[in-house]
Amino acid sequence: MNKTAVVTGASSGIGEATARRLASEGFDVLIGARRTDRLEKIADQIGATWKRLDVTDASSVTAFADGIGPLHLLVNNAGGAKGFAALAEIPDDDWDWMYEANVVGLARVTRAFLPAIERSGDGHIINVGSIAGIETYEGGAAYTAAKHAVTAITETLRLELLGKPIRVTEVQPGLVETEFSLVRFDGDAARAAKVYEGMTPLTADDVADCIVWAATRPSHVNIDTIVVKPRDQARATKVHRS
Ligand code: NAP
Repeated sequence: MNKTAVVTGASSGIGEATARRLASEGFDVLIGARRTDRLEKIADQIGATWKRLDVTDASSVTAFADGIGPLHLLVNNAGGAKGFAALAEIPDDDWDWMYEANVVGLARVTRAFLPAIERSGDGHIINVGSIAGIETYEGGAAYTAAKHAVTAITETLRLELLGKPIRVTEVQPGLVETEFSLVRFDGDAARAAKVYEGMTPLTADDVADCIVWAATRPSHVNIDTIVVKPRDQARATKVHRS
């Protein structure tokens, strides 16, 4: 029987690339996000199942997890950033969006699937954090605080699940060219493009490669953390541009 996987935020970027990779590795994949037209297309292409999912909505998460059989792999990827304001100017709405999607949503999805993960007898939770979970930068208070919280959750889970057949991993990418910056800058494509100008960012597939590598190690091997950055990036805001 095939192993099973759930990927959140699989309608674009890292989540989509991860779902594609997992399907090609032989996993039965369930994908979720809010843009169902995209999910449907991706699911058709890779032979996955899809369901609408808004991780910020408890009833949506409950419905998403409903009826799931034993689950071998949960990839908590849904999330992102909003805005680039200094702390003095960050609106509450941006704080709420970033915490709800990246932190509370991730915890909510994990809670919903934990029984199914344990039931598999060989489960794995992979959280997509960020180098924003290790560093801070100007204009990034809410996002870096949220991704630091993802790291705290990951480490807590590893302690709480010790002794159970469940691995816990965090993948922390640097700059990846996806729709991330478009979302962060509210659809401003020119501003989003500037983030990657003159440098070679990671692709979504580069990160999916790390996620799938961690997931396909032998069951007794827990990859705790993978930090992956482009060669052109030394720190969050220290980027070589030609
Ligand atoms: P992306 O292309 O914007 O993908 C974000 C995904 O999250 C989309 O599928 C989006 O789907 C989903 N999502 C957002 N809010 C959601 C919600 N409330 N409920 C369900 N799904 C939701 O960006 P990405 O770069 O692939 O981001 C994936 C993860 O990587 C995020 O956690 C991000 O913080 C992290 N990350 C990104 C970078 C980077 O440079 N790109 C670096 C480090 C970490 P819908 O809009 O259809 O719901």
